Amino acid sequence: MREEISLRAYGKINLGLDVTGKRPDGYHEVRMIMQTVSLYDSVRIGTRRAPGIGIRTNLPFLPTGPDNLVYRAARLLMDEFQIEEGLSIHLYKKIPVSAGMAGGSSDAAAVLVGVNRIFGLGLSKRELMKRGVSLGADIPYCIMRGTALAEGIGERLTSLPPMPECVILLAKPPVSISTKFVYGNLKVESLPFHPDIDRMMDCLEKQDLDGICSRMENVLETVTIPVCPQIQTIKERMREAGAEVALMSGSGPTVFGIFKERSAADEAGDRIRTEGLARQIYTVRPFQVDGRGRR
Ligand code: ATP
Repeated sequence: MREEISLRAYGKINLGLDVTGKRPDGYHEVRMIMQTVSLYDSVRIGTRRAPGIGIRTNLPFLPTGPDNLVYRAARLLMDEFQIEEGLSIHLYKKIPVSAGMAGGSSDAAAVLVGVNRIFGLGLSKRELMKRGVSLGADIPYCIMRGTALAEGIGERLTSLPPMPECVILLAKPPVSISTKFVYGNLKVESLPFHPDIDRMMDCLEKQDLDGICSRMENVLETVTIPVCPQIQTIKERMREAGAEVALMSGSGPTVFGIFKERSAADEAGDRIRTEGLARQIYTVRPFQVDGRGRR
């Protein structure tokens, strides 16, 4: 049995996000193209003498008990496999919190992978994904990573050709929007537009970055932008500096811009910071599973 393991939990953006209906149980049916980005939280997992699960994190406002998704992920496997030993989890967060980048889900995914390895449970990726969905719809994707079509409530996944190389600027305005609020206020029956997810997939197949960018849309902007107009301003600043496209990720409020040149992304980031529109600003790249850095 290994004593300690360090993992990277990567964030994601949505290149396209469509909502196609609402199920009787209240969940929304979605169709999204997900893309992992190179911004990650560091997750260190180790066994310890004291029983139970101890969590430490660099963000003092995050819960360190059962309300933290990493606690629930560890508990799930420890209960199922009757693991009595104590576990310590150290979480160094860089992915903005409550931001539409699936930070918590990705941390939980890393803990499922890590506990499986540390205790030699022998679960396959698919078996971990099956367990992960009971904690959150995005968790199976966070285990899979890369470029993928997510359908159903986000848990039905199809791997796609990788997003072409580009520079991605992330900017999170200093506001909190709950995912529940955004979906709760979405007018599913009267959405003014729907992204053409099928054509976007064709463009990925052809590695046509311009074609992908020209079709990027997120229907959740119809709810989040009216309550957080800074999102629109950030999108405009990115476009003015030369972004091919700028879009909100997930339920927001993080905005991402796709650039062909690093210098243009830097210029946009500087303007957004100087104007006080966002403090959390990162320049990243698409992260592919078969590329650099394995978990
Ligand atoms: P999504 O894109 O899946 O909607 P998000 O970016 O909106 O995710 P997260 O940052 O994953 O949101 O989680 C936000 C909420 O979850 C906060 O209320 C936070 O206290 C709680 N939380 C629990 N565990 C974590 C974690 N490991 N990291 C971040 N937030 C967590």
